[in-house]
Amino acid sequence: MVDPRHIAAQLLGSIDWQSEVSGFCRCPGESLHTSQNGDKDCRVNVDGAPTVFCFHASCAPAVAAANLRLRQELGASSWEIVLPDGQTLRSGDVLQSTDEILKREVVEVERRARSDAPYHDERTVLETLRVVAERFKPELFGAFHWPMERILADSPLQVSEREPDEQFRTWLKLWPAHSTVWIGDVFSSGKPEHKTHFRPVAEWYQIGPAMGNFTCGSAFKPGSFQRSNESIDGHRFLVIESDTLSKDEVGAVFAYMQRRLRYRLHCIVDTAGKSLHAWFDAPRTRLHEGRLKAALQVFGCDPKVFTYSQPVRVPGAWRDGKLQRLVWLRE
Ligand SMILES: [Zn+2]
Repeated sequence: MVDPRHIAAQLLGSIDWQSEVSGFCRCPGESLHTSQNGDKDCRVNVDGAPTVFCFHASCAPAVAAANLRLRQELGASSWEIVLPDGQTLRSGDVLQSTDEILKREVVEVERRARSDAPYHDERTVLETLRVVAERFKPELFGAFHWPMERILADSPLQVSEREPDEQFRTWLKLWPAHSTVWIGDVFSSGKPEHKTHFRPVAEWYQIGPAMGNFTCGSAFKPGSFQRSNESIDGHRFLVIESDTLSKDEVGAVFAYMQRRLRYRLHCIVDTAGKSLHAWFDAPRTRLHEGRLKAALQVFGCDPKVFTYSQPVRVPGAWRDGKLQRLVWLRE
């Protein structure tokens, strides 16, 4: 019986196995890398749909070719390996981080449904995605390490030292001009008198400074007085935060979102507390959104970020003597 790990090693060279089915290898497109190589840049998984995954972007064509060959070779015959705990893993099965096996009959549902059309077992896809994200997590925080100092230095526009009013007005410009935006404190919502906290961007621009410490990543219907998902209308940003990752850690997730997943990053806000918030374009579909959410949770980000009426810190307001400020801003 063939051992898939031998076949993978024949194709990719020696593999430093981290588990029964997953290990580090030399990237098949290493010569195309435009930044420094690390030992843990490239990983191969032989379970599920066998995959080579490299953190560099420049090698994508070579990695895609290697994936094709890996899948052809490993798909040519079915195989089984007996794990140390006595379970049998068959070709196509996924070994989860709990050591439970997700059977290929269940995984197959995903493989048949590559399009964006909704299908009946999205839960399986999400489960597989969580397993893969868990496996990639340590490398993600290494390869995409983006500490606070670097974020400040890398900002296309140097904004962090600007005056509070200008921070606020600069941030307002990220919104489409016609948007109705909520600014206030957590409780400035729910009663008719709170209408005054829901205003068009141009009005806020004139009023400045910020009328409260919070805003939302979504625009609201004109005339709203309630910060609820039902009142949301028009433009949406996805604001990513983490309660557990420090200002020097969470940048890795932002960098991964921007550089690898190609989400457009608009700004990063220092909340004047323990965390940074990154403002991205919202995912295009509910399907994308669900999958992104599953991965982000594994990486330590807060599931409540996907509640678009969630209050978040607005730049240009003071919090206990410290300024909530922009530390990174797109051009
Ligand atoms: Zn590579």
